[in-house]
Amino acid sequence: MKSRDGQTQPWWTHAIELPSYPPPDANDSADVIVVGAGIAGVTTAYMLATEGKRVLLLDEGPVGQGQTERTSAHLSSIIDDHFADLEKLHGVETARLAYQSHCTAIDTIERIVHEHAIDCGFSRVDAFLFRSDDDESDLLDREFDAALRAGVTDRTWVAEAGPIRRRAIKFKNQAVFQPMIYLLALANAAEQRGTTIRTGKRVVDVKGAGKGERVTVTLDDDTTLHADQVVVATNTPTPINDWLGIYTKQAAYRTYVIGFLVDRDVYPNALYWDTHDRYHYVRLADADDPAKQVLLVGGEDHKTGQDDPKIDHFKALTEWTRRHFPKAGVETSRWSGQVQEPLDGLAFIGEALTKGDGVFVITGDSGMGLTHATLGAILIRDLIAGRENPWAQIYSPSRKLLTTDFISETLNVTKQYADLITAGDIKSPDELAPGTGGVMRQGLHKLAIYKEPSGAVHKLSAICPHLKCVVHWNTVEHTWDCPCHGSRFSCTGALLIGPSTEDLPEAKASSAG
Ligand SMILES: Cc1cc2nc3c(=O)[nH]c(=O)nc-3n(C[C@H](O)[C@H](O)[C@H](O)COP(=O)(O)OP(=O)(O)OC[C@H]3O[C@@H](n4cnc5c(N)ncnc54)[C@H](O)[C@@H]3O)c2cc1C
Repeated sequence: MKSRDGQTQPWWTHAIELPSYPPPDANDSADVIVVGAGIAGVTTAYMLATEGKRVLLLDEGPVGQGQTERTSAHLSSIIDDHFADLEKLHGVETARLAYQSHCTAIDTIERIVHEHAIDCGFSRVDAFLFRSDDDESDLLDREFDAALRAGVTDRTWVAEAGPIRRRAIKFKNQAVFQPMIYLLALANAAEQRGTTIRTGKRVVDVKGAGKGERVTVTLDDDTTLHADQVVVATNTPTPINDWLGIYTKQAAYRTYVIGFLVDRDVYPNALYWDTHDRYHYVRLADADDPAKQVLLVGGEDHKTGQDDPKIDHFKALTEWTRRHFPKAGVETSRWSGQVQEPLDGLAFIGEALTKGDGVFVITGDSGMGLTHATLGAILIRDLIAGRENPWAQIYSPSRKLLTTDFISETLNVTKQYADLITAGDIKSPDELAPGTGGVMRQGLHKLAIYKEPSGAVHKLSAICPHLKCVVHWNTVEHTWDCPCHGSRFSCTGALLIGPSTEDLPEAKASSAG
């Protein structure tokens, strides 16, 4: 099935048919409505159904076709933003709680895999953190000490990280799995426990409950649904989870992955990542041929819509791979995806301070979105059940951000508005090769021009409907990406990812030329 997020196809779904479900209608009723059927929403539905709640799980697309199919699926309790930094910002106790919460997430996935006999290749592996090519700092040493203070007792120094002949920290008890096999099986298990799954309609509004009322969820065909609580697990900030200005507290990044065929067991089955600011991450996965494996190598992150078009990220990843994993063979697949980086290193999970009660949110996944999603489901289950949970404070969506990154992020967004007055990428649609796009200035207007492979030209407004920044052409996914808050649109302007709620409009005749 063609991916919804762009034109690349992740390895996980190359041989999987996604199930279809009926659309929601006004007769659907539930105790709890969960919006978003990625790993966060499906796990939440499963947890709540296991508690005996009647759950309605909604998604505008098929189950799993958000960022969950685009993951590289490292299951790690070792904080990718580093224990040393987390401790500096939040203190040792928060670092300890964060570590424990991700450990519990991996244990929970393992328990679910065994309980439902899910054949998703879950296995415990070691993980290696090594110095990146250009890192001369003492980060690795500081991380070794900070990890212990956070409670990571089973970490040791090793002279080599698999094929990488560099001193590294080895962590035990991390894990890997095939995320889409796990997700689809979990959706089945949630259904068996009484969850109703409905797809194909976008949720356009969520209203908290007033006194004596229930929450209201409105769909794009104006159907309204009611429940005692709603959990918004849409991953990206959308207008329906935007009450706290969450889009100002996290930043959207693109990240890239390539799969290379290797002979089975040529490299130790482990997780590998380096200390680079935009770190490289590596793992092995099953190939179609049992004698082979796929070496998945990711990295090259940059802020969404702020790419340097002169950089070929896949070429850079390939060169890095050939240097560090020289036995990497032919390429099996390549894709990109989007992560939401919370500015203080912790996800946003809990009850949202909206007008009205009963609205919960899971977002701010970062590169640890699979474990954030799973621990988020546990936390929200407990909050809805009125049970105490030790992680509630550290992940609270209404916490104050304690970071200077908040100021630099605001400055970064402000800088993007300069695009409104610059020249465009092209002066005329004639300059575009078929199947590409570019921004063109026309008088006072900025137009997003896409030329179909057939040569037909689409002229859209290049102004993102969310907060009026100028969108950029994404050369890898053939989408229009907003550099301010990460909204994304198809090449012909259809909304893919919020916080925008609207498509890119057609250019007005006067500005379309
Ligand atoms: C390349 C890449 C590598 C990664 N590697 C790792 C890794 O190694 N380990 C790790 O832990 N994490 C990793 N992550 C992060 C992780 O994959 C994601 O954080 C996680 O899959 C997000 O799950 P989710 O359920 O929150 O969101 P999604 O899977 O995006 O699901 C959200 C769902 O909400 C639906 N939706 C959105 N808006 C609406 C609406 N208004 N109405 C109805 N439905 C709506 C969407 O259609 C979608 O199906 C990676 C991410 C990428 C892109």
